[in-house]
Amino acid sequence: MKYDCIILGAGMSGLAAGIRLAHFGKKVLIIEKHSKIGGLNSYYHRKGIEIDSGLHAMTNFSERGGSKRSPLLKLLRQLRIPYEELNLREQNHSIIRFDTCSLRFSNDFRLFESEIADKFPSEIDSFRLLCRRIDECDDLNMDAPFVSARGLVKDLVRDETLAEMIFCPLMYYGSAVEGDMDFAQFSIMFKSIFKEGFCKPEGGVRQLLSILEDRFVSSGGELKLSSEVSKIVLRDGKLAGIETADGRFIESEFVLSSAGSIETLSLCDPRPANKKLEKGNLSFVEAIFCFPSSAKSFPAENFSIMFFNRGDSFKYSNPHSLFSFDSGVVCLPQNFKYSHPPAHKMLRMTLLSDAPSWRRLEMDEYLKTKRNLSALVLAEARRIFGKAEILSEDEIILEDLFTPLSVERYTGHIDGAIYGSPTKLKDGLSGVENLFICGTDQGFLGISGAMLSGISIANKYLLK
Ligand SMILES: Cc1cc2nc3c(=O)[nH]c(=O)nc-3n(C[C@H](O)[C@H](O)[C@H](O)COP(=O)(O)OP(=O)(O)OC[C@H]3O[C@@H](n4cnc5c(N)ncnc54)[C@H](O)[C@@H]3O)c2cc1C
Repeated sequence: MKYDCIILGAGMSGLAAGIRLAHFGKKVLIIEKHSKIGGLNSYYHRKGIEIDSGLHAMTNFSERGGSKRSPLLKLLRQLRIPYEELNLREQNHSIIRFDTCSLRFSNDFRLFESEIADKFPSEIDSFRLLCRRIDECDDLNMDAPFVSARGLVKDLVRDETLAEMIFCPLMYYGSAVEGDMDFAQFSIMFKSIFKEGFCKPEGGVRQLLSILEDRFVSSGGELKLSSEVSKIVLRDGKLAGIETADGRFIESEFVLSSAGSIETLSLCDPRPANKKLEKGNLSFVEAIFCFPSSAKSFPAENFSIMFFNRGDSFKYSNPHSLFSFDSGVVCLPQNFKYSHPPAHKMLRMTLLSDAPSWRRLEMDEYLKTKRNLSALVLAEARRIFGKAEILSEDEIILEDLFTPLSVERYTGHIDGAIYGSPTKLKDGLSGVENLFICGTDQGFLGISGAMLSGISIANKYLLK
């Protein structure tokens, strides 16, 4: 067996890269250790209900026929996916809620601007200046060094609460770095969340995944599920191919890995001299509650996503404990502009969490802690909504909770580091000739970001 390229992982970036290569006639194989595609963003069934394992929303919404520079339209063109196939539904609106202030935003940037003008009138000019700096930022420059977004925003936006409120969604949805962001990443996230906005396929993540799989396979790509790459084989310092956990060697001149940079280099045999890479330590717990659509105690709020924070100072860092209620995300997945209302109502709450704290628990304690945390999340949701009578346990038809250890188990990311290593390999170069990194550790994050990453690295190195 010999391939032009083997791709590790059938997540968003691996699938997108695979489609590009297959379109151009490359003999390409994607190897995925799980039985399902999607990686961090897949789906599963419980009690007959389909649950997206990750999806809150896709960023980078664009109308059909929107600007040619729109990242979403660009990636659809590159993957030859007609816009209508995604059946995208826009968010209603979302909220950033701190104790003393709330800001709403939607896919119409004017709402966010007017909220800032209304609640922080003395800051609207500096906010517009920040927007100009963002427009001028060459955020796709793969060679640019780290520039502190905190420092830059602080110089422009004097009101600390407003600055913290701007950072909150951007960090929750796309920072592998504690307490700060690279300004290029800040700029990408600002545009993708505030300027372009949230949407999702009417059929959930499964709809997107089945389109990607179909494009890949129908273009001649091969997909091997439930097969783990256990070695990336180097001979005389050159890449020779990969070995699977069942001992099969598959030859390939090029390997593209979406498994994470540290994770990928640790598969190399022999191990190359390590690039200096930092391990990511930001992970989440997420509790999911499902109610019948007729549930009387389900909150009537119609926001799609809320980013909340206690106090005025937002701390985005590993809490070094099982969870922290200092900040988090609440997603009401049914609150998108669906053409048919979903059969169930759900509430998802995401909190920062520390993998080692969960790993220290014995199994029975781990399960007990998960159950206790679900009850605490319900109480926290009642506090946030300011209503004690909502979210009655009697009406819940399904609840689930994942921890950093679940993320680690299902994705291979060490410590369930959702956004991977803080050291991003923007140029995709692993340090080993012909072994490239795409996805989370290349640096474009989220669903749209991961697909763009797979496309850019495939275009840059494998389709020259
Ligand atoms: C809980 C959660 C919620 C999220 N919500 C959103 C959201 O609402 N919106 C959004 O835009 N983004 C969201 N994200 C982030 C988004 O899912 C990721 O940024 C994106 O999917 C990353 O894609 P990827 O291809 O880089 O990596 P991954 O999805 O991690 O794919 C890597 C793949 O490689 C496979 N793999 C690893 N090692 C091996 C091996 N040795 N052999 C074979 N296969 C291997 C893994 O099984 C995995 O399938 C969320 C993430 C999580 C965890």
